[in-house]
Amino acid sequence: MQLALAHPKYGYYKSKEPFGAEGDFTTAPEISQMFGELIGMWCADIWHKMGTPQDIELVEIGPGRGTLMKDFLRATRKIPGFHESISISMVETSDRLSEIQHQAINHLHPRVKWFTEISKIPNKPVIIVANELFDALPVRQYIKQDDKWHEKQVGLNQNGELDFMLLKSSTTHEKKHEHTKNGSVIEVCTTAMSIIETLSQKIKQYGGAALIIDYGYNEPEYKNTLLAIGNHKQCNLLENIGEVDISAHVDFAMLKNFAEHFGMTAYGPTFQGEFLQKIGIDIRTETLLNNATEKQQKDIKTARDRLIGNNKDQMGELFKVLALTNTEIKPEGF
Ligand code: SAH
Repeated sequence: MQLALAHPKYGYYKSKEPFGAEGDFTTAPEISQMFGELIGMWCADIWHKMGTPQDIELVEIGPGRGTLMKDFLRATRKIPGFHESISISMVETSDRLSEIQHQAINHLHPRVKWFTEISKIPNKPVIIVANELFDALPVRQYIKQDDKWHEKQVGLNQNGELDFMLLKSSTTHEKKHEHTKNGSVIEVCTTAMSIIETLSQKIKQYGGAALIIDYGYNEPEYKNTLLAIGNHKQCNLLENIGEVDISAHVDFAMLKNFAEHFGMTAYGPTFQGEFLQKIGIDIRTETLLNNATEKQQKDIKTARDRLIGNNKDQMGELFKVLALTNTEIKPEGF
């Protein structure tokens, strides 16, 4: 999964344009400007609750095309003192996407820097945002068979083709998931754990908050959630490697437990729909509708419904929001 997505030459994020109507999937910031605007207002509110520190790092991990940050910066421009106090760190592994992000936002703020790892960002108070980052991180999969856990791996079969194969696993899953039936699957994302550890330690030491939004679950369902998507359709994981997106649902219970272990106070996970409504998507929608043509009004309403609706093709319940803080700050939206 790591190679398929991030290989310097053949990786999916390195070579293909995944986002938008032409691409393989559409993310919330690409659906509506309201998403980035509201996240911007949420962060500005956190900054106020921290006592308006004068030198603070605003960090986005996995910024895609930079759309969220573009809308964020536009929406928060007039908040007195905010832009003067922030410096921006964009944490991105793909050179191609970093370049696109550069073009999208560099002119909107005097202090924007790019890093390939969260551990490299400056040491100061931070507000961190990650939308649809964690579902793109590679997972290890374990499956229970004959009452034993096996790691599912990819190798070459006798015909010289890529195939799944099982390796008897010597992990400690036996104890923790003792009660599960044969056929159960667990997914473990060690990169997610190390990102949570690093960001929790930054927040604990220097103060601040993190906001994590993704497609995921609160309780493990012991199912395979690995999925390959090409041209908006599900396809075979082992065919067209590097040409199609691969993702896995995010284990929010794990993210939350892990962050709490590193001293964070966690809020949520809550549904994206509820979160966006609590932080003002209806008021923002009204304002946009008042200044729109009839065609634009229709698009604005469709976009709003897609972000907060509960149908299968909408994001309101499928996507969850988790906030982490170290202080007495109670974030909005929960
Ligand atoms: N947040 C954007 C893009 C989501 S796609 C949006 O909502 O539209 C996932 C993004 O995470 C891509 O930009 C990808 O290159 C980046 N990414 C993947 N693994 C990463 C890692 N380990 N660290 C930082 N960014 C990563």
